[in-house]
Amino acid sequence: MNSVFMNTYHRLPVTFARGEGCWLFDINGKKYLDFSSGIAVSPLGHNYPPLVRAVTEQAGKYFHVCNYYQSDVTAAFAEKLMEACSPAGMKKVFLANSGAEANEGACKLARKYSLKKYGPGRHTIVTLRGSFHGRTITTLAATGQDIFHRDFGPFTEGFVHIQGGDIAALDKALDGKTVAGLLIEAVQGESGILPQTQEFIAAVAKLCAERDILLMFDEIQCGMGRTGTFLALQQYKDSSGNPVKADVVTLAKGIAGGIPAGAVLAGEKVCDVFTVGDHGSTFGGNPIAAAAGLVVLKMATDSGLLAEISRKGEMLMAALRQQPEVKEVRGMGLMIGFDIEGNARTLLEAAIARADLAKNQCGLLALSAGTNTVRLLPPYIINDEEIEQGLGILRELLVSE
Ligand SMILES: *Cc1c(COP(=O)(O)O)cnc(C)c1O
Repeated sequence: MNSVFMNTYHRLPVTFARGEGCWLFDINGKKYLDFSSGIAVSPLGHNYPPLVRAVTEQAGKYFHVCNYYQSDVTAAFAEKLMEACSPAGMKKVFLANSGAEANEGACKLARKYSLKKYGPGRHTIVTLRGSFHGRTITTLAATGQDIFHRDFGPFTEGFVHIQGGDIAALDKALDGKTVAGLLIEAVQGESGILPQTQEFIAAVAKLCAERDILLMFDEIQCGMGRTGTFLALQQYKDSSGNPVKADVVTLAKGIAGGIPAGAVLAGEKVCDVFTVGDHGSTFGGNPIAAAAGLVVLKMATDSGLLAEISRKGEMLMAALRQQPEVKEVRGMGLMIGFDIEGNARTLLEAAIARADLAKNQCGLLALSAGTNTVRLLPPYIINDEEIEQGLGILRELLVSE
């Protein structure tokens, strides 16, 4: 069945037929508790009625009008998104379709800003080792993991990777003569859920501001409420104790509840850098994605729901810390990683294989990062009972590991 696909994914042996809330059902009727939301893409779970309604209503009006015209629903979405991101200093948005595309847009924005203000030669973008920024030739260059760099060179020039947490290395790398911007995940996702320290972000914010280097947060995985604040960067303070402000923020993954979408948000310094013809995307701002995004935004900006995300995350992390087989637990809100002795992928396979109709037993969907880290990104709508159920399965698998 999978032989027509290029061999780019190690797909687990389960084929889904439908979903309901935090549950997915395979083609044989077996049930799986979703602790991954795709990869943080379905914050409202599956078949969430207001989301289904918004998407079908929009589909009955129009699917697409190109960006040479205006769309009521796309404009409404962009306005709500900017409201949500204004505390982080965001003023204007460019709508894209994916994370990599959003980061590409951010890099273009940084380069043009610097070129217009300082002339050529100041185009380097600094990122962190272990970061993940996408799969295009440029966003691979930005990604600070050598494993992704094999076989695909030459890459876009002008990317430098430094060790996160190393303030001396940061100070050295952020050279005001050659560097246009710094791109950073507040919580590194793909490399195993690694939140940046307050100290490091404060140093980043200070040095970027002093040297007019654009501070760009890749919130593709950690944004949209995932960590208990709308953006993860909102949990960090600058060296004066004020909330950190960004120059650029990128979003994607959960932004439209499972419909492809991405966004480049820009603050005061850069929001008018692009002019007509500088950038574009045929599908960017798709009306169906915008209709879905409006529903996600309403939820992900609700202070009650955000508090619940934090509480549920704490509950999960506290329980995992009690488990002797678990070596380390890291996370913010419902973005959690924990290290185990054994192979994380083996655990994920066992979590799926556990689903059994005769035994009336369900499976569990989780993610791995590297060899030994299990990653949990449950939908925001998960309830305490489902969390307990998932923890029960994890305990069982950890003990029999
Ligand atoms: C997933 C991800 C990307 C890439 O997004 P795509 O939609 O797969 O292109 C970029 N940055 C981060 C932090 C991500 O988690």
